[in-house]
Amino acid sequence: MTARLLEGKFFANAIKEEAGRRAAAFEEKYGVVPGLAVIIVGEDPASQVYVRNKRRSCEKVGLYSREVALPADTPKEKLLSIIDELNADPKIHGILLQLPLPKALDPYENEFLNRIDPAKDVDGFHPVNVGRLVIGEPGLTPCTPAGCMKMLELAGIDIDGKNAVVIGRSNIVGKPMMLMLMKKNATVTVCHSHTQDLPSVTRRADILVAAVGRPHFVTADMVKPGAVVIDVGINRIAPKKLVGDVDFDAVKEVAGAITPVPGGVGLLTVAMLMDNVVRAAEMQQNNK
Ligand code: NAP
Repeated sequence: MTARLLEGKFFANAIKEEAGRRAAAFEEKYGVVPGLAVIIVGEDPASQVYVRNKRRSCEKVGLYSREVALPADTPKEKLLSIIDELNADPKIHGILLQLPLPKALDPYENEFLNRIDPAKDVDGFHPVNVGRLVIGEPGLTPCTPAGCMKMLELAGIDIDGKNAVVIGRSNIVGKPMMLMLMKKNATVTVCHSHTQDLPSVTRRADILVAAVGRPHFVTADMVKPGAVVIDVGINRIAPKKLVGDVDFDAVKEVAGAITPVPGGVGLLTVAMLMDNVVRAAEMQQNNK
């Protein structure tokens, strides 16, 4: 059997088109273009690529974007004051601090993320937004799991009552993914490095989400025939070769649907960021 291929491009385009329509309507109604500020500290090459992609996506969708590039030796207080300025800037509706931070600032990561106004927290990492997600109140949610959920919805994949297994319990992927699936009435199991007999757990999954960070970690024998397999992993195994957490070639013969890497969830993450910027602008306007 060959699985249905869930290509990120198709779903990402649909999400961006919708975000673009809402951004245009917002501008027409309020005379302001929804705006995103991306703060990048240091010269990490991968981060520079991500920031460039975000800027291009903003241009494509019709959002205002501003890049704040700072040297790696930026003092902590300086970065905090820049976040404060962006919090107060009416042209900016969403603020994103590109991670990872340089070594000297890394220990303060949570302090920086918590300084971002929750209303502008388009990464959905602020404890206020995390709390809202836990109790099921509307808020800004992390882009990667939100993108996976949107893809399931657009692909017409039923979640209600299904067994979902998430491998990974990080704050940015695993935990919010669990909460979002639970909200849609899946029965969710979260696995991690202490889980015993992982294959016996994953084989029960109708929907299997891999967010581990290990190349080809999910093998065909771990997948229930016909399952929907979402591969969040991005692993560089050679200078120009990215692979996911799923052994794609083998698993596609067992699964009912599968996301590729590259060209899968990564594209959805950027698309959902655009959606979150527009949503942040709308929510700020509604709360005025
Ligand atoms: P992370 O913080 O390193 O978390 C990895 C999780 O995998 C942890 O919960 C860990 O368990 C679990 N794990 C590790 N070894 C395991 C094992 N042998 N069995 C079961 N679970 C195991 O990673 P992350 O930030 O969630 O990211 C995961 C992957 O997604 C990475 O490849 C990352 O690059 C990718 N990613 C992609 C996007 C995108 O846009 N597509 C966005 C974010 C992340 P413990 O908690 O017990 O350590």
